[in-house]
Amino acid sequence: MSPPAKSPATSLLANFERYPLTFGPTPIEHLPRLTAALGGKVEIYAKRDDCNSGLAMGGNKLRKLEYIVPDAIASGADTLVSIGGVQSNHTRMVAATAAKIGMKCVVVQEKWVPHYDAVYDRVGNILMTRLMGADSRLVDEGFDIGIRKSWEDAMQSVRDAGGKPYGIPAGASVHKYGALGYVGFAEEVAEQERALGFRFDYVVVCVVTGSTQGGMIVGFAAQDRAERVIGIDASATPEQTRAQVRRIVDDTAALLELGRPIREDEIVINPDYAYPAYGVPSEATNEAIRLGARTEAMITDPVYEGKSLQGLIDLTRKGFFPAGSKVLYAHLGGAPALNGYSYYFKDG
Ligand SMILES: *Cc1c(COP(=O)(O)O)cnc(C)c1O
Repeated sequence: MSPPAKSPATSLLANFERYPLTFGPTPIEHLPRLTAALGGKVEIYAKRDDCNSGLAMGGNKLRKLEYIVPDAIASGADTLVSIGGVQSNHTRMVAATAAKIGMKCVVVQEKWVPHYDAVYDRVGNILMTRLMGADSRLVDEGFDIGIRKSWEDAMQSVRDAGGKPYGIPAGASVHKYGALGYVGFAEEVAEQERALGFRFDYVVVCVVTGSTQGGMIVGFAAQDRAERVIGIDASATPEQTRAQVRRIVDDTAALLELGRPIREDEIVINPDYAYPAYGVPSEATNEAIRLGARTEAMITDPVYEGKSLQGLIDLTRKGFFPAGSKVLYAHLGGAPALNGYSYYFKDG
C-alpha cells in the first residue's frame, strides 16, 4: 500500500470558472461483497459519480458541463444544442442543465444503437429529456463520436428561428473546456486519499467520447500516475476513441499549462469488452451488471458502466491487478438507459 500524495500547491483549475451543478465531491464507497466475490485479493472501491447531483439523476456529463456553462452564459446564448444517441445520458444532462439555468434546449438523437426494444425511444433518458422541456429530435444516423451534420443543422434551425445557439458536442468531449471536470476528479481523489490514509493503485473508467478519461489522464499526470487509469472502451471503435483521447489530452494539457506532454504509455485503453457493438451488451456484460447489483446493489447499464464493470471483473479474475491492489471503479452514471433494455433482464 502506497502512502497518500502530498497536497498539491495549487489546483490546475484555479483560473477556470465553474458553475455548480453537482452536490460537490462524490463519495468513495468500499465494495466488500464484490471484492469477496472476485477472490478477495484485490480491494474494490467505487467513486460514485452516478450519485453526483439532484439534477435528473446526475452522471459524469454534469461534471463536464460545470466548466462549460460559464462560457455558454457569457456567449449570450439562449439555447443549448447538443447531440447523442436515442438513450443518451449526455442529452439528458444537457436538457437538465438548460432547465436549471433557464435556457432552451435542442437535442438531436441519432439511432446509434442497433437495439429494438419496443419502448426504447420512450423510456429512461429520452423520457426525462422530453419531460424537462427539451426539443428532442430523432434522426436516422449511425454511431459516430465526431461532429455531425445533423448537429450543425440543429444549430442553424435555432438561428433561423431568431435564437442564439450554444453548441455542445457529443459527450461534451471536443469542447475546449470539456475535460476540465475530470481533471478536477483527479484532484478530488487525491484529496480523499489524504483523508482515507491510503492511495489507490488503479482507476478503472469507461471511455467512449474521451473527455472523462482524457481529463483524468491530465489530472493524474500532474500526480505522475496517469498510466494507472485503465480506460475500458465501450465504443467498439477503439482507434477513433484513442485518437480523440489523444487530442483531448494534448489540448487540455496545453490549456492548463501542465508543463510537459502526455506520453503515449500514459493513455491506456483496453478494447476487449466493447463487443458486439456500441450500445449492445454481450452476455458477459449482462452478467457483470447482475453481479454488481446482487453483491452491492450497485446499478450499471448495458451501454457504458456494465462494460467497464465487466472489464474490472475480468481483469481482477485474470490477475491483471497485483494482489493487495486497491482499485477505484469510477461509476459514471447511466442507469436510466436500463429501462430500454428490460427484455435482457426479464428473468433477473
Ligand atoms: C458518456 C458516458 C460515458 C463515457 O464518457 P466519455 O467522456 O464519453 O468517454 C461513460 N458512462 C456513462 C454513464 C456516460 O454517460
